[in-house]
Amino acid sequence: MAKDLTRDRQLAGHRPIHLTVGRERVILVGGYLPGDLATGEEPLEELERLAHTAGARIIAKVVQRIREINPGTYIGRGKAEQIAALAKREKCRCVIFDHDLTPSQTRTLESVVEGKVVDRTDLILDIFASRARTRMAKVQVNLAMAQYRLPRLRRLWTHLERQEGGIGMRGGAGERQIETDRRMLGKQIRDLKHELKQIQARKERMVRTRQGEHFLVSLVGYTNAGKSTLMRALTGADVSVNDQLFETLDTRTSALKLGGGLQVLLSDTVGFIRRLPHNLVASFHATLEEARTANLLLHVVDISSPLAREQMEAVQEVLREVGCAGKDILHVFNKTDRISGDQEIEAGLLRHEHPGAVAISALKRDGLDELRTQLLARARAGAEPVKLSVFAGDGKALAFLATHFFEDGREADGEWITVRGRASAPVLERLKGFGETVKILDGACERTAW
Ligand code: GDP
Ligand code: MG
Repeated sequence: MAKDLTRDRQLAGHRPIHLTVGRERVILVGGYLPGDLATGEEPLEELERLAHTAGARIIAKVVQRIREINPGTYIGRGKAEQIAALAKREKCRCVIFDHDLTPSQTRTLESVVEGKVVDRTDLILDIFASRARTRMAKVQVNLAMAQYRLPRLRRLWTHLERQEGGIGMRGGAGERQIETDRRMLGKQIRDLKHELKQIQARKERMVRTRQGEHFLVSLVGYTNAGKSTLMRALTGADVSVNDQLFETLDTRTSALKLGGGLQVLLSDTVGFIRRLPHNLVASFHATLEEARTANLLLHVVDISSPLAREQMEAVQEVLREVGCAGKDILHVFNKTDRISGDQEIEAGLLRHEHPGAVAISALKRDGLDELRTQLLARARAGAEPVKLSVFAGDGKALAFLATHFFEDGREADGEWITVRGRASAPVLERLKGFGETVKILDGACERTAW
């Protein structure tokens, strides 16, 4: 308890965050209502990976099918006592639940198991906190943590109240301390929101200026689907790839050169996960700015996972929540090299349901040419035919054409070059800006899509 206490004080003081779960031995617990688990979902499998990502060592897993949530202990009281006995025997001081617990459930469970009780959101917040690198990601994590902890402050001070002679004694040291902390945390939330707004505005401006002349492609997909691997395979960008959840918290953007000299910006965005705490999604809106302004979303799916379908749905839901519902989406079915057994049938079904999807293996670099072709076709489809005459001495204009124009052919005409192809409206605008050295001979570019 004392460790927790220090942590929250430091958070309120806006100093480095201390994590709830350390490199310690833990017991995982899942109490599942009918319908909680998706077909094919192994209970606790995802929690196990989350805990592993946080650095914990799992010593036991306990699953209980429940008909209703016990208001006091979430799982059944008897089960909680069994876990307490197990924890005592194993000398384990930390139990992680695959659910969100109310502050009073956490309190009750902590007194039953005589140790630390961590819920799913606590754990995810921990991981996010240890992964955040940029200022924006840090602010977002801090905000989500503060918002999650505000209603839970009481739990930290109950022991003080006990010392002073009974829970709920008004005016006790605990009560006063909670009030102080609540005010501090409240102020911190306001400050963080303010800072986030400023960062977001800056980011929006940045994304907008970048948007116009490039066809913006954004990578989205369930955590661990292979987005970073694909990004690296396509662009050579040095993004970190890891078999851990939430390896990527900060959006990375890098240029992808497609045949035809077109540049596409790829953004690798924060992982998506099922049952993600709502305020966490909200605080990560800014990270998804790229996705919102993208011309096309590449939805990467781990087709080798028995949960591919559920994961796709989870991603779609997050996309709806952040205002990307109507976006153009190209599905990329990744990890085709790993499909085996029963999954072959499900993979076949998914491919049948999404005939436009591209099947690839980012790891083995299979299917990437097909993907590039599709990207090029999508980008081209949004541009309009145009014919230009460019002065051969204007190197800048020619270089711009090489990276922004879909060229179908060119002819030299004395000191001038006639170029046929397609351009988007913003690219055409830029071309007009070159002045005397670029002449638009023919083109109806008013209604291009991007
Ligand atoms: P992200 O969370 O979506 O960015 O996923 P990563 O790119 O970090 O990949 C997660 C894990 O899946 C890593 O261990 C990758 O090596 C692995 N992976 C990615 N693509 C493939 C693939 O095509 N085949 C196989 N077998 N593994 C892959
Ligand atoms: Mg990644």
